[in-house]
Formats: sequence, structure tokens, C-alpha cells
Amino acid sequence: MFDAAKLKAIVGEDWVVTDRSQMERYLVDETYTGLIMQPADDVIVVKPVNAEEISRIMKLANEDGFFVYPRGGGTGVCAGAIPTRSGVVLSLERLDKVLEVDRENLMAVAEAGVTLAQLLEAVEAEDLLFPPHPGDEGAQVGGMVACNAGGTRAVKYGVVRNYVKGLEVVLPTGEVVVMGGKLLKNNTGLDLMHLLIDSEGILGIITKVIFRLYPKFAGPATLVVSFDDRHSAIRSVPRILQSGVIPMAIEYVDRELMEDTARYLGTNWPVTKGNAHLIVIVTGTTEDDVYEQCQTVSDVCESNGAVDTLIAESREEQAHILHIRSEESMTYKAELAEILDVTVPPATVGDMMDAVEKLASHYATKIPMVAHAGDGNFHPHLMAELKERGLDKEVKRRIYAKAIELGGVISGEHGIGKTRLGEIDMCLDAKSLELMRGLKQLFDPNGVLSPDSAIR
Ligand SMILES: Cc1cc2nc3c(=O)[nH]c(=O)nc-3n(C[C@H](O)[C@H](O)[C@H](O)COP(=O)(O)OP(=O)(O)OC[C@H]3O[C@@H](n4cnc5c(N)ncnc54)[C@H](O)[C@@H]3O)c2cc1C
Repeated sequence: MFDAAKLKAIVGEDWVVTDRSQMERYLVDETYTGLIMQPADDVIVVKPVNAEEISRIMKLANEDGFFVYPRGGGTGVCAGAIPTRSGVVLSLERLDKVLEVDRENLMAVAEAGVTLAQLLEAVEAEDLLFPPHPGDEGAQVGGMVACNAGGTRAVKYGVVRNYVKGLEVVLPTGEVVVMGGKLLKNNTGLDLMHLLIDSEGILGIITKVIFRLYPKFAGPATLVVSFDDRHSAIRSVPRILQSGVIPMAIEYVDRELMEDTARYLGTNWPVTKGNAHLIVIVTGTTEDDVYEQCQTVSDVCESNGAVDTLIAESREEQAHILHIRSEESMTYKAELAEILDVTVPPATVGDMMDAVEKLASHYATKIPMVAHAGDGNFHPHLMAELKERGLDKEVKRRIYAKAIELGGVISGEHGIGKTRLGEIDMCLDAKSLELMRGLKQLFDPNGVLSPDSAIR
């Protein structure tokens, strides 16, 4: 059991919250309405300022036997940061410094509690680029690494894992370990750093991250390509990639969903033709390069049935389109049970969407869909009414089964957290699960860090 006095002795009186009314925002995250988990009654929030304090807290957790829940920006969508058992919420918010933007090595060093917005500001001030962009800039650097966040830019630039070069981590047993460095090559021993990336807070607390950066690109330009039907839109995706253009993002959206979202936001979706859209974002080395890529994408789509293409070049116009796209999950929030995160081989996204559409019609429900179509990651929206009819789990499992049949997985970017634990063994074999449990036991012999998350 935790002792508030001992925790105050480590972090200082002001950085321990014991009053429930002051800790509400630490007890929730952005998990979808239908999956929200109840936090335990007996919880305390501590806000250490550095790895050394975190190390002392973890040693105390092992001695006194209490659970610790690392918390970043609280933007996770599968309840990973929610303290469902009595214990300590360990907020990283005071580790909030961008320590260095190193132009010579093209690297940034940031403490774990730096938000994506802060990181982007620091990097852009040096005219450099940190390419990944998961949708909520309130996410913290440590949380993005712990979840290996993805986002729309993954087609060209990959996910957060591709940018992590070094980590400082406090292990569950309290030792501080440095993994990697400002290195582009490192084959020295087993790669513990990549094990920590996407460990969802169960193998260690990330306190510092070294990210690789790139020079800023020209552009970008955003195309909204309209098709009469989804099949033509999805069929165009591999054709775009085969043309030699690798866009930063290729997103599939239903026009109806974008119009609903725009209405919800009090604005207009700028495209009126076609029912199915691809949002394609291209970047290049020069403006001419960007223009040529736009032309190629437009030609490829036209020969695959596109009925219209809008090319947005001004910052405002592009921001407007992306704002509507990134807010879509808010439109139906009250009516949503859950948004799934299945990923399939990119060329099978169309088959996956057909299967989901069939299920929607079989269960007489609507399942709105958006897809990071260029990387096969796809978010069917299950509505609350399905849950009210007691059918949400059945539909979810059928969607998962189809994804797995196509060679896919149940989560591509959001992770397992607590909400997908029930289905993890649908796509991981018994031996893999056993190895994962063994690693957890090795890192955290007393099981104090983030119980009931990521593996079971
Ligand atoms: C509007 C919206 C859009 C989103 N879009 C995307 C998207 O496009 N792509 C995508 O991948 N995700 C997306 N997300 C999900 C979310 O932003 C990411 O998962 C993000 O990486 C979570 O970071 P966080 O700091 O908020 O973590 P939290 O929610 O605080 O925590 C998430 C998990 O990470 C662990 N954790 C947090 N910090 C640390 C640390 N320092 N050390 C160890 N473990 C830690 C927690 O224990 C928890 O298990 C979106 C969320 C929202 C609300």
C-alpha cells in the first residue's frame, strides 16, 4: 500500500495530489465512451521532476507493494493510463524540457513530458522537421514512444519507432538505463530500446527520448480526390504508390462523414462531388517537384475513375481539410461504442471494407469507416446502439477474424491497453504470449508497473 508521506518526501509536498476532486483529469483518458473503465477509489497522483525521483518511487513501490501507472498526455484511446487498481498515477508533466535541437546531428533530445506541440515548435524554430503526427498534439513524447504512435503521415515517413534513436528509462525495479544514443547505426547487443518502444508502460518509465530529425520539406500540397464509389477510391491507392509517388498521407474518408463532421464543427466540407474521397498529401524537395507529384496522383486517380480533384495549396485551405479529417471521431462521440484499429496488408483494405459493410448490413447497423488507406490501417466505428443490443463484441470479433484472415492484426497504432486484452489471443500464438509474459516478469518481477495492460 502506498504511503503519501513517503511519496511527499521524494517529490515534495506540492507535487502529491490526494484530494479526489483535484485529480479527476488524471483518472480518465480519451477511451471511447462504450469502453470507459472505472478508476479505483484509492488512488494518489505524484508528479516527479526527474528520473532520479522516479527511480526512488519505483524502488518504494517494490518495497511497499503498490501499483504505479505512468501517465503522459492522457490522449490514449485504450485505457492504458487509467488506474483501475489502487495505486499511484505517476504523471510525467514536469519533465517538460526540450533539452536540445542538434542541427549538426539532426537529432532532438526531449524529456518525456514534452508535448508533441512543444516538440514541433522547438524543431520548427530551427527549420527542421519531426515527421510523425498522431492526431492530438497534447500527446507527450514518452506516451508517443510507449504507444509507438502512428498517424496520417506514416505512408512516407513511418511511425514514431522509425525516429527514436535513444531512450532513458527507469525500470520497474528502479534502475535507470540508457539505451541507444545519437546513432544512426547500432548493432551492439540485443535491442532493448525497440522492446521499450510500444511497451505501453509495462516494461519501464520513459524519461528522455532522442529523436531523429529531417530538413523541412517543400510544400506540402493536399489533394481531395472524389470518386463515385469506395471501390474505385481504394483501388487507386496501390496505383498511386506504384506510380513512384510516395505521398506523406493517403486517407480514405466517406463524404457523408466529412460533411457531418464539418457541420458539427460549424463549417463546410469543401468538396461536393462523389461519395468517397481520398485525401492525399504530397511533399517534395521543391515546389515544382510537389506540383509534378500532384499531377501524377491526379492522373492516376482519374484513370481509376476519379470524378473530381481539389488541390489545396494554401496553408489555410490545407489546415481546414485536415482539421475536419482529424476531428471526425468527435462527431459521433456520444453515439459511439468504440473505434477499432485493425491493420491489414495495404492491398487488402478494399476486401476488409467490403467485409465490414456486409456485417453492417447483416446486423442492421451503420459502421462509418475511415482508413489510413496507404498503410492498411483502418478504423471502423461501432455505434452505441450495437452495444445496447448486446452485439458489439460479436461484431468486433467478426471484424477482427476477417482482418486476421487477411494477414492483419487487431491494432495498428492505438495499442492493446486494457480494452483489447480480451481479444489479444485471437492474433498472437501461445508461444509468443508466453515469451511476452516472460519478458514482463524479467523486467518487473513484482508486477508493480501498469498491471492489466498490453499483455495478459
Ligand atoms: C483526437 C485524437 C487523435 C489521435 N490520433 C492518433 C493517431 O493518428 N495515431 C495514433 O497512433 N494515435 C492517435 N491517438 C492516440 C494517442 O494520441 C496516442 O496513443 C499517444 O501516443 C498517447 O500519448 P499520451 O502521452 O497521451 O499517452 P497516455 O494516454 O498518457 O498513455 C498511453 C499509454 O502510454 C503509457 N505512458 C505514457 N507516458 C509514458 C512514459 N513516459 N513511459 C512509459 N509509459 C508511458 C501509459 O501508461 C499508457 O499505457 C489519438 C488520440 C486522440 C484523442
